[in-house]
Amino acid sequence: MNAAQTSLGNRPSVAVVGAGITGLTAAFELQRHGVPVTVYEATDRVGGAIRSVRVNGFLAEFGPNTILETSPRITQLVRDAGLAARRLDPDRRAKARYIVRDRRPVALPSSPLGFFTTRLFSWRAKWAVLREPFVPARRDDQEESIADFVRRRLNQEFLDHAIDALVAGIYAGDPERLSVQQAFPKLAALEREYGSLIRGQILGARARKRRGEVAKDRAPKFSFDEGLQVLPDTLRERLGPAVRLQCTVTRLRRAGHRWQVTVRTAEGERVEEHDAVLLAAPAFKLAEIQLDTERADRLTFLGEIRYPPVASVVLGFRREDVAHPCEGFGMLIPRVEGFRILGTIFSSSLFPNRAPAGHVTLTSYVGGERQPELAGRPAEELYEMTCQDLAVLLGVRGRPVFCHHYYWPRAIPQYNLGYGRYRAEMTRLELEHPGLFFAGHYRDGISLGDSILSGLNAAERIRQFCRNLVPVVA
Ligand SMILES: Cc1cc2nc3c(=O)[nH]c(=O)nc-3n(C[C@H](O)[C@H](O)[C@H](O)COP(=O)(O)OP(=O)(O)OC[C@H]3O[C@@H](n4cnc5c(N)ncnc54)[C@H](O)[C@@H]3O)c2cc1C
Repeated sequence: MNAAQTSLGNRPSVAVVGAGITGLTAAFELQRHGVPVTVYEATDRVGGAIRSVRVNGFLAEFGPNTILETSPRITQLVRDAGLAARRLDPDRRAKARYIVRDRRPVALPSSPLGFFTTRLFSWRAKWAVLREPFVPARRDDQEESIADFVRRRLNQEFLDHAIDALVAGIYAGDPERLSVQQAFPKLAALEREYGSLIRGQILGARARKRRGEVAKDRAPKFSFDEGLQVLPDTLRERLGPAVRLQCTVTRLRRAGHRWQVTVRTAEGERVEEHDAVLLAAPAFKLAEIQLDTERADRLTFLGEIRYPPVASVVLGFRREDVAHPCEGFGMLIPRVEGFRILGTIFSSSLFPNRAPAGHVTLTSYVGGERQPELAGRPAEELYEMTCQDLAVLLGVRGRPVFCHHYYWPRAIPQYNLGYGRYRAEMTRLELEHPGLFFAGHYRDGISLGDSILSGLNAAERIRQFCRNLVPVVA
């Protein structure tokens, strides 16, 4: 018999390391299905990268701003958590996205006609799009940077004036280093399966519809009345005492068929036993956990994954002090435009309750791979540089009436060239160490939606593992 054993009768228990959205989703799902679970969280709060703060009528999101509803399973989680009534959909007028060109935000075209008439791209770039279906597809499985991919299938102008800005907006990353296969797998799949991005976009829409999926560029976005923090806070409430704050997991030791989990708390260290362990903390934190098994395997390789620093700068202005109508989601800024902010979300256009009446909230990002040295600058300097850029781009005058910022020394993992080997190593460790599972933003995609799906899938894999355990009754 291949099945492992559990000494806890027929109720195997699961340890989840990290109470970010991945860990909480997985734990909630496991608990809903009757699997006893304990979530160990190193800090004194849940949510990880999600961090919403309400001050004087302004709501600041220092981490993610919205969830992309790419799968009905995300919608179902919100329902299962009892949050359907608190869900907040964006204002209908906030659809436009802007990219800065020649130091002014220009709306991204939303139709083929709009594309051919926009001043965002030259005729040469528009011609590159028409020609794209005829560019031969690369079919080898060599990783390629997103920059090389775009130059090969479209052209340099597309890279400089669109993709560079997009990559800064999603990853705060560098298109010359991000792997298209790892960071934008759906883009790589379009070329592989349909031979062209344009053809794949059209034909792939049918396949997605059949699977009930929505492409990221079309997926609805949402948040909650009091910001995204509502979701982790509610999951924590539902999980009750299963969530243990200020508990840092420092060591995992294989003992027979179970895992001994060493936890550091204010009172000292203690060891608890579980049948399965889900690793849902950031890669650089997991790298600090000592893995103690009969094999000489380590988690230190996870420390090689790069997370550049980012500062989120949330500023509130009187409406009359901002010349631009800010009707839309926000603006992305290509490197060639020479600004210090990477982009800005028009937070209170997206969700009007993010600012008091007569005011606007603008959330900007500084640093990333583009200028990592800027992210850690003192608050006053960050506010000053953000105001200077917003003055040129949105016609902002006068001083902000609300200033808050949050510094992420290690913000978002970069799925750079070669990232495939980290994923392969995680899969190998899972296969060789029964009961050890990896999930979250460092493995299955960096977005919140990806993290939620990663948590749900991990819960499913763990339930399958638990079903195969043979109870040993003492
Ligand atoms: C500035 C910023 C903006 C973003 N914007 C967006 C956006 O607009 N849309 C979007 O979809 N995504 C966005 N993201 C990405 C998204 O927020 C994250 O990828 C996602 O929240 C990650 O969730 P997670 O649970 O995998 O990890 P995390 O949120 O990092 O949670 C991991 C948890 O593990 C805990 N932990 C660490 N070590 C240990 C240990 N040893 N023991 C116990 N606990 C431990 C940490 O304290 C943390 O609470 C953004 C991220 C950042 C930083």
